[in-house]
Amino acid sequence: MKILTFNDNLEVVENTARLLNGPLPLSQHYWLPLLGVGWTSLRGEESSEVFRGFLLELVSEWMRCGKRVMPEETTVYASGVGLPNSDRFAWHAHLASEKFLKSGKIMSQEIDQNDPAAQTWLWRVYWDWNHRNKPNVWFRHDGQLYLNYTSPAQSRPSTPDMLPPFIESGSPYMNQWDESILWFLLFLNSRHAQLLDRCVHCDRYFVRKRRPQRGVDYKRGPNCGKCKGRASIQRTQCTRDRRKHQRVKLAADVWGQWKPMRHYGRRANWVAEKMNQKLPEGQAITGRWVTQHQQEIEAEVQRRNHAKS
Ligand SMILES: [Zn+2]
Repeated sequence: MKILTFNDNLEVVENTARLLNGPLPLSQHYWLPLLGVGWTSLRGEESSEVFRGFLLELVSEWMRCGKRVMPEETTVYASGVGLPNSDRFAWHAHLASEKFLKSGKIMSQEIDQNDPAAQTWLWRVYWDWNHRNKPNVWFRHDGQLYLNYTSPAQSRPSTPDMLPPFIESGSPYMNQWDESILWFLLFLNSRHAQLLDRCVHCDRYFVRKRRPQRGVDYKRGPNCGKCKGRASIQRTQCTRDRRKHQRVKLAADVWGQWKPMRHYGRRANWVAEKMNQKLPEGQAITGRWVTQHQQEIEAEVQRRNHAKS
């Protein structure tokens, strides 16, 4: 039996990269191709930035875990009991090794606890979402099966049991959180999710032309088309971009610790001084650098606050 999903589409990955790379042009309506569900979170500047922040957290954690939501060779067996689309329908899910079916014994002890994907919050929130949001299932007259999800903002799911470390219960942004997981889930299910990468030079997300080959050593890590050409000639420029990005992050770490009191002095100078305690020798910056990059620093601080609240 062939299961038709509405999102078997490379465009999902392209849209995801676009979303992760920068704020969305407002007034544009975003749809996941072929899904037919509008994204309520993407209406309005504040809301869409919160949504983007959540999606960034999900995708970076997924990449940190080696582009997986669960440890190597584990899988969750999910079965539906009851009539689909009815209140009595329930999902049952068990985490087990993929060898489970063959051997007949539960291999959970064999899950490698050093695997970053074993300890992560990622699969817990992923399965919590799946538990709360039942897919819509249609059995068609020709015997084919359709699966689809309704936007959580429209179906008002119950509150999550599992939350990632950056969201507190009672956050006013639960709809954005739920929709960001739905986007993430459809992205994973696009069959092309593995093509998404982040450039080590400019930090931008991009879509690979083809899957990285197994066993090939990408010495310098993934780099986007733009940086590939200049990788050898203008590597310094890329290093500069990356260095700037790291400095902005460092500045954002201490930005909120400054207080408008006399012994703190000017904010730019105080932040520069704090940053210099962490920067390698010979790379010290001045208050002037902080002033020049104030906008970027504040944007980073705001992004983090959104993700937290
Ligand atoms: Zn790049």
